[in-house]
Amino acid sequence: MGEPETTSPDPLAEVRQRAYQAIDQWLDSFVPLLSTPEAPTLLELSEHLFKTRSQLLGDCLQAILDHILSHYTQLRQTHCPTCARLLYRKRLEPKKLTTLHGTVEIQRPYFYCVACRHGPHRPDGTPAGRRHSRSKAARSPPCRATW
Ligand SMILES: [Zn+2]
Repeated sequence: MGEPETTSPDPLAEVRQRAYQAIDQWLDSFVPLLSTPEAPTLLELSEHLFKTRSQLLGDCLQAILDHILSHYTQLRQTHCPTCARLLYRKRLEPKKLTTLHGTVEIQRPYFYCVACRHGPHRPDGTPAGRRHSRSKAARSPPCRATW
């Protein structure tokens, strides 16, 4: 017998769970359409799909976005981009973003430097965890969302 296989935890387990829940809710929206004596037409199915897809995709997008930004929203301290003082997070501020797939909401950590009188949401101008890279891509917000 060989070594038992070890499986690493799925890094997208929570995203998958939330996406599955979104799909379940989306499928439930078909129940009234499928509960009539006559089967829906392809056009009716297509129209229903068109009307409801934004909710499904928006929910999936929110799950992925929450996963991508989890380290960023958990950020408790950072250094002031101007004077390099250690700053502690004051609060999380929600911000709604409109996308092609519906509205999503992100939580932005808010910091304030008393010395500089500056309150950056993105403390060092880069997403947390990518601070050490100086590439243009690393300076862009995750998903290129407008903060
Ligand atoms: Zn400062």
